[in-house]
Amino acid sequence: MTDRMSLAACRRVVIKIGSALLVDRASGLRKTWLDAMCDDIAELAAKGVEVLVVSSGAIAMGRTVLDIGSGALKLEESQAAAAVGQIALARAWSEGLSRHDLVAGQILLTLGDTEERRRYLNARATLSQLMKLKAVPVINENDTVATTEIRYGDNDRLAARVATMVGADMLVLLSDIDGLYTAPPHLDPKAEFLPFIPAITADIEAMAGGAASELSRGGMRTKIDAGKIATAAGCAMIIASGKVDHPLRAIMDGARHSWFAPSPEPVKGWKTWIAGKLVPAGRLVIDDGAERALLTGKSLLPAGVRTIEGDFSRGDTVAVMALDGREIARGLSGYDAQEARLISGKKSADIEGVLGYAGRAAMVHRDDLVMTAARKAKSKEEANA
Ligand code: GLU
Repeated sequence: MTDRMSLAACRRVVIKIGSALLVDRASGLRKTWLDAMCDDIAELAAKGVEVLVVSSGAIAMGRTVLDIGSGALKLEESQAAAAVGQIALARAWSEGLSRHDLVAGQILLTLGDTEERRRYLNARATLSQLMKLKAVPVINENDTVATTEIRYGDNDRLAARVATMVGADMLVLLSDIDGLYTAPPHLDPKAEFLPFIPAITADIEAMAGGAASELSRGGMRTKIDAGKIATAAGCAMIIASGKVDHPLRAIMDGARHSWFAPSPEPVKGWKTWIAGKLVPAGRLVIDDGAERALLTGKSLLPAGVRTIEGDFSRGDTVAVMALDGREIARGLSGYDAQEARLISGKKSADIEGVLGYAGRAAMVHRDDLVMTAARKAKSKEEANA
């Protein structure tokens, strides 16, 4: 594909590394692999590419060190495992990179560090300072304090959030799967490999399976979610296998991978933050007329809103849903959920009569609104027309 950008031609790249690549549950750190990975990073750095690493493996490593048996861990067990494993992981990265005279800087993020605007800007400032100083940021979730309710849970979306935070031009997700298939390849022998994904449409989302769950954690679903966050902000994404030594070199040498094109109209700054928000506080279901209006860049007016779900405050991020259940946009609500319920379906001119004061004309103003989806898949007739 001619419009694909080579890794070596990127300005800034975020590499996400899955736990199983770095840690063997029986023997611990996979040092040979890590050393080869550090060779690849150094090779890119020598070409002037700024590399950031999002490294999983704290919990897996801690389990090995503490010898906590197989099976699901209780929350406090995984927190303790992460506390032990993260030290080992940080040391491994620091030593691996120092062989190439590169300095590693550890950053542990919690959900609030990317979801609250002020903390987001703070984390971003630290990352850019590290890069200015030519250090390689090594990032993970702070699993020692993350609880089920307040965690990313998977490093795919965390890595996408980091990629948009630093304005990366490429996000590489390395795991045990070499890319996106039309169906899970281990279940369906007819599954076809997709080397190039120009846009994450509803069809592509369907290939990744159902909603994220504990089972699909770190699976294709979270990778596609990561793709939506990254590509909307103008960052390309690669899903490639990390099972070989030197996986980045392999990609540059043409090893099979899926390449997700960045959006041709990336959103910037403030809107990138809104679009990448991981947990919307509520949902607004809108009618077809409102959907058409949003597609032409208009604000969301109360008249086009059918139902309000969730309990949110003014200024919170809400997901805007089409009648058929597709998420089409994210935006900051101009009203509390309670007020939104009162004025949904009403003309803007009637708002004052309902609320007793003159509110804003828009439920979500276009300056605070980002289209996130997946346009409706064209019907066969439309496609053939
Ligand atoms: N943060 C977790 C860890 O380092 C990994 C999350 C994931 O597998 O995506 O153990």
